[in-house]
Amino acid sequence: MSVYDPANIFAKILRGEMPATKVFEDDAALAFMDIMPRADGHTLVVPKIAARNIFDIAPADLSTLIQRVQHVAKAVRSGMAADGVVVQQFNEGPGGQMVFHIHFHILPRWTGVALKPPGVMGDKAAIEAAAAKIRAALA
Ligand code: AMP
Repeated sequence: MSVYDPANIFAKILRGEMPATKVFEDDAALAFMDIMPRADGHTLVVPKIAARNIFDIAPADLSTLIQRVQHVAKAVRSGMAADGVVVQQFNEGPGGQMVFHIHFHILPRWTGVALKPPGVMGDKAAIEAAAAKIRAALA
């Protein structure tokens, strides 16, 4: 059974040890822009509690988290004028997880617009511009 490692990058962002382009924060969760966006406005939502993934998060914490995901997803859709939104969540390496602090991806989608390739750093100005639109939709 894999354990939670507090040295993961999202834990560092939560502790303020690493920068992030934040769009939403409350007592339970933080949402920030993915640095390698698969779509303009690609946003991540993480809980403030320490959990590795779906296997160890307490049901009550998962329930709280998904409510924040819904809240942010609505703002991503309206802020980015998206036709639809994909919500993704990966568990363990073979399940596609690379950062071992549970998180949900929110990807806005537009008719006829393909996802960007994985593993490519996003343009900083474009990420900031998308974040501003999402923040405005949350305000
Ligand atoms: P996964 O664990 O497969 O759900 O993917 C982790 C995601 O975190 C990827 O989409 C990365 O681009 C993203 N990511 C990794 N490091 C950072 C970071 N410092 N700030 C924002 N996003 C990150």
